[in-house]
Amino acid sequence: LESLDVEAIREEFPILEREFDGQQVVYLDNAATTQTPDPVVDAMSDYYREYNANIHRGIHHLSQEASIAYEEAHDRVAEFIGAAGREEVIFTKNTTESENLVAYAWGLNELEPGDRVVLTEMEHHASLVTWQQIGERTGADVEFVRVDDDGRLDMDHARELIDDDAAIVSAVHVSNTLGTVNPVSELTDLAHEHGALSFIDGAQAVPNRPVDVDEIDADFYAFSGHKMAGPTGIGVLYGKRELLEEMDPFLYGGGMIRKVTFEETTWGDLPWKFEPGTPQIAEAVGLVAAIDWLEEIGMERIQAHEEEIARYAYERLAAEGDVEIYGPEPGPDRGGLVSFNLEGVHAHDLTSIMNDHTIAVRAGDHCTQPLHDELGVPASTRASFYVYNTREEVDKLVAALDDARQLFA
Ligand code: PMP
Repeated sequence: LESLDVEAIREEFPILEREFDGQQVVYLDNAATTQTPDPVVDAMSDYYREYNANIHRGIHHLSQEASIAYEEAHDRVAEFIGAAGREEVIFTKNTTESENLVAYAWGLNELEPGDRVVLTEMEHHASLVTWQQIGERTGADVEFVRVDDDGRLDMDHARELIDDDAAIVSAVHVSNTLGTVNPVSELTDLAHEHGALSFIDGAQAVPNRPVDVDEIDADFYAFSGHKMAGPTGIGVLYGKRELLEEMDPFLYGGGMIRKVTFEETTWGDLPWKFEPGTPQIAEAVGLVAAIDWLEEIGMERIQAHEEEIARYAYERLAAEGDVEIYGPEPGPDRGGLVSFNLEGVHAHDLTSIMNDHTIAVRAGDHCTQPLHDELGVPASTRASFYVYNTREEVDKLVAALDDARQLFA
């Protein structure tokens, strides 16, 4: 694989030129949200300047153009992730809403006492909190596959939990805290062997590596536009057609119906049945531009670049001696982020010192509070990488640790 031309890529991100107190921003908070390249901003601005209108069978020219762009955005996403077609691609607000859609539309109707919902200890609150609530309301048990000391799932424990009582297995593809790349095909196969469904949270996978939902064979797969060089306000729920057809809608309103009388309503075709109201039209246009932009670089190359930077960061931080890093060692089952703590310094203090150097990293539990309880720390600092990051930026991160030691340790 030819490596990336990072300099040329950075030119498409004016935000990376910003300076605070005379220091150029070092943006290492990509697992929270990635920056948006000019072609994505331009596509959205073209939409508002040239063909902004409401969709859904408008007769006038502008509505027709907007409707086509919005509908075809589903085709483009389907092609990008290996789905069969637009009927399997639902636009939501984000990964969190995609989780809630399945939890409400499927979970609340289907789960009963005695059923088991199998999560992992490294789930994001987006799935953990959601299924916990659905468990309380339906009487289903919610259980968690253990994470071992290396930051990997204990697959023996997974095989214990995923038995004939399991109704759904919901697992994160790449952990936003540990960086672990989970064996999601294996988990999905286990679920299917026992008649359970699988939901994969791909928020940290789709932006950074090739993902093929057909190969994984997941029943549901979710991700967010704003973590993949796209806009905020749009997420995706992929679902297998036959399941989506059987499911009731999650939200109700206009644009999703076939026929409405004062007595009853019948639902429209997929995916519109799950997209009531005026949807995220500009954001769908932006998401398509982001996918075009990512594919032009190539998802394999993006993955290779991030793994290389993350490996470098891991090794440099590990060499410090007073830094504790969470998650697996660099390798094929680790993605492009590193969460760590500096001995004697709270993650929030460290992150604030990083900010004094205009280095953007994140402190906290990264919406994985129970996992941090298991790790025995209240918080960690997370550096997460994308296509535009460089080794020099990692060097700045490591150099800034000295300030923290002087001030706090
Ligand atoms: N799952 C994972 C693994 C994530 O990293 C995130 C974002 N931090 C989410 C879910 C939630 O994504 P969003 O905030 O876009 O709904």
